[in-house]
Amino acid sequence: MQQGELFIVSSPSGGGKTTLIRRVIERLGQEGRKAYFSVSHTTRPPRPGEKHGVDYYFVSREEFLSMVDRGEFLEYAEVHGNLYGTSWQEIRGKRESGYHVFLDIDVQGARQVRGRVPDAVKVFIFPPSFAELKRRLLFRRQDREDAIRLRMRNALNEMREYGEFDYVIINDELEVATAELFAIVTASRLRSQRMRGCVETILDDFARHLR
Ligand code: 5GP
Repeated sequence: MQQGELFIVSSPSGGGKTTLIRRVIERLGQEGRKAYFSVSHTTRPPRPGEKHGVDYYFVSREEFLSMVDRGEFLEYAEVHGNLYGTSWQEIRGKRESGYHVFLDIDVQGARQVRGRVPDAVKVFIFPPSFAELKRRLLFRRQDREDAIRLRMRNALNEMREYGEFDYVIINDELEVATAELFAIVTASRLRSQRMRGCVETILDDFARHLR
């Protein structure tokens, strides 16, 4: 069984990465490919409608820190005053069973994954403009005015780190951005190292016929 790829998708909050990842996973499913959206642990309280084990594993700061002590996180970071992390358990089994795994994490987390999973594919999603990001955050109505101001300021700092990523998508038109993320997934599957298994079979076939 070929191991699934690990995709790190980062953007400022409100950049639209969660929607994009969901759409790409759905499209992969329609093509019979296995893909999984990793569920992070967080100390942030749930927003209305969010479910434990689906959107996040909501845990206390104490629980989170004891997981850190036990080395259970592939990466973790403090984002907007709350702790967020991806557990090894979330990704290992899935990748081994051939699932592509998508992480929706911030820039600090992406940096930690690079050191630990060097072949992870890193994608940064840009909002098209300041006004559009602000409009999306206000539209969500999930955060108070002061929280939105903090997120906009953090957005600029995060966007300045785009050079650490393999790919950049500007999320203006959702359809276009979805197609672009899908293209990245396809291109990653065709990397020569990953194609070795299929290619060896063709080479053997040639060798047999030319013997
Ligand atoms: P939100 O509170 O809006 O769901 O997420 C806030 C930020 O935390 C987003 O930028 C999101 O990508 C990031 N985030 C979510 N889960 C993780 C995680 O497991 N690790 C890291 N480093 N960041 C995360």
